[in-house]
Amino acid sequence: MGASLVAGVDCPRTTGEFRGWFSSGAACRDYLAWVRWPDGFACPACGGAGWAMADGTFRCRACLARTSVTAGTLFDHARTPLTVWFELCWRFATSKQGVSAREAMRDLGIGSYRTAWGMCQRLRRVLVRPGRERLSGVVEVDETFVGGVEPGLAGGRARGKKSLVAVAVETPGRPRLGRARLQVVSDASAETLGRFVRDHVEPGSVVVTDAWSGYTGQALAGYSHRVVNQSQALRDGAAHDGLPPAAHRVAALLKRWLLATHQGSASAGRLQDYLDEWVFRFNRRRSRHRGLVFYRVIQLAVGHEPVRYRQLIHEPRDPDDEPGGYPRGRGGRPESIKPQVKGYPWRSQRD
Ligand SMILES: [Zn+2]
Repeated sequence: MGASLVAGVDCPRTTGEFRGWFSSGAACRDYLAWVRWPDGFACPACGGAGWAMADGTFRCRACLARTSVTAGTLFDHARTPLTVWFELCWRFATSKQGVSAREAMRDLGIGSYRTAWGMCQRLRRVLVRPGRERLSGVVEVDETFVGGVEPGLAGGRARGKKSLVAVAVETPGRPRLGRARLQVVSDASAETLGRFVRDHVEPGSVVVTDAWSGYTGQALAGYSHRVVNQSQALRDGAAHDGLPPAAHRVAALLKRWLLATHQGSASAGRLQDYLDEWVFRFNRRRSRHRGLVFYRVIQLAVGHEPVRYRQLIHEPRDPDDEPGGYPRGRGGRPESIKPQVKGYPWRSQRD
């Protein structure tokens, strides 16, 4: 993530600073514009340059089209004020355990559970970027069952479906964990697990698995495959249930989070969205500043196409379907941009 970003200038350092910066819709809009158009406004219709209008919209110099900074982004047509969206993004990025729809509704004064749920769900949709780097080095791979109970179904508590989740985690040196990837998979066949590994692990890496027959030589062609012997693992003080220790620990952390923050409300059809949220936070747990994670959430949101409520309801995501629209990174200081409003820290000129 952008090494050129400066906490305290490009993103807030603390919740207090966050509140000071983003108390008005105008400030939120300007920040979105600054993140969305690092080189200055570019007309979504024709790519032309333009200028900011007094009402916060932008006008293209070439085609004269008027556009708002939220048009065509995740915040498009949002009825919830941007200040509330920002607060949710801040919590989403900075709180260790994330935020549930119920907490968002209560703490942010959002009118209905439906609205709060829709906002949280939209944020989850932006968190996976296509083409992200695959895991490398020594990577433990396993699969685990998640879920089973869905509160809130018609008729009270009902038995939900358990989902099989493939787990991959880098082990740069025990007991340290590196980055992780989680994906809902249809089965534990050699074909499915092989695809999971190819999608998420750099060829040439060392893949550590248990002795499950799904991890065949053919499925893991191109990798150095190490099978963990269960009795050996037990002697090493490892997993009692056969999971390699690192993958087991990741699975345990995930399940604890699903229960604690979401009370197990991640239904089978939407589980991948929750997995993406958890992985996003897990892989940034050592980020040198939480504010940088907030910047990243905002950047992904303005780079993502709008998500309609009916899409959230009726179209649970295909696990293999990665959302598009990854925004290009902010590189260096834009030259052409002029501060539209004085006094915003992110608009300050520095050399
Ligand atoms: Zn234009």
